[in-house]
Amino acid sequence: MAKTVAVIGAGVSGLISLKCCVDEGLEPTCFERTEDIGGLWRFKESVEDGRASIYKSVITNTSKEMSCFSDFPMPEDFPNFLHNSKLLEYFRIFAKKFDLLRYIQFQVFVLTGQSQPCEQ
Ligand SMILES: Cc1cc2nc3c(=O)[nH]c(=O)nc-3n(C[C@H](O)[C@H](O)[C@H](O)COP(=O)(O)OP(=O)(O)OC[C@H]3O[C@@H](n4cnc5c(N)ncnc54)[C@H](O)[C@@H]3O)c2cc1C
Repeated sequence: MAKTVAVIGAGVSGLISLKCCVDEGLEPTCFERTEDIGGLWRFKESVEDGRASIYKSVITNTSKEMSCFSDFPMPEDFPNFLHNSKLLEYFRIFAKKFDLLRYIQFQVFVLTGQSQPCEQ
């Protein structure tokens, strides 16, 4: 039986952790406190308590070649330095390609050693 792994957060770190777990034959479950992937790269107009976010005009300061997952280059038509919406789009393409959403439980906030549904 495969080992189970908990991944906390579905930002870029969580997404690649999920893929690596699956590649290694592990059974991951990701707990994400918000309703979507992307972490701080998912810009929202309104500030949410306890949630990190970028500002609306942020563009990456690392090139797309340096920022991409090593086995998943960014689309050729993407600019070299990306507006945050493009980076989020890349994460969505990545998650879809490797069918990662099925491992994520949204709106679950991990406390110390346990998880619970978020109050909305
Ligand atoms: C303004 C700015 C610009 C940046 N520009 C670049 C750049 O150009 N290039 C670069 O490589 N890096 C850049 N960074 C660094 C950036 O931190 C990383 O690129 C990346 O977003 C970090 O991803 P992460 O998944 O570790 O964290 P996050 O994106 O913060 O994601 C963490 C996720 O975990 C969830 N979470 C947190 N706690 C819990 C909990 N207890 N239970 C459940 N879910 C939880 C959150 O909701 C979130 O979705 C920048 C950072 C900032 C702030």
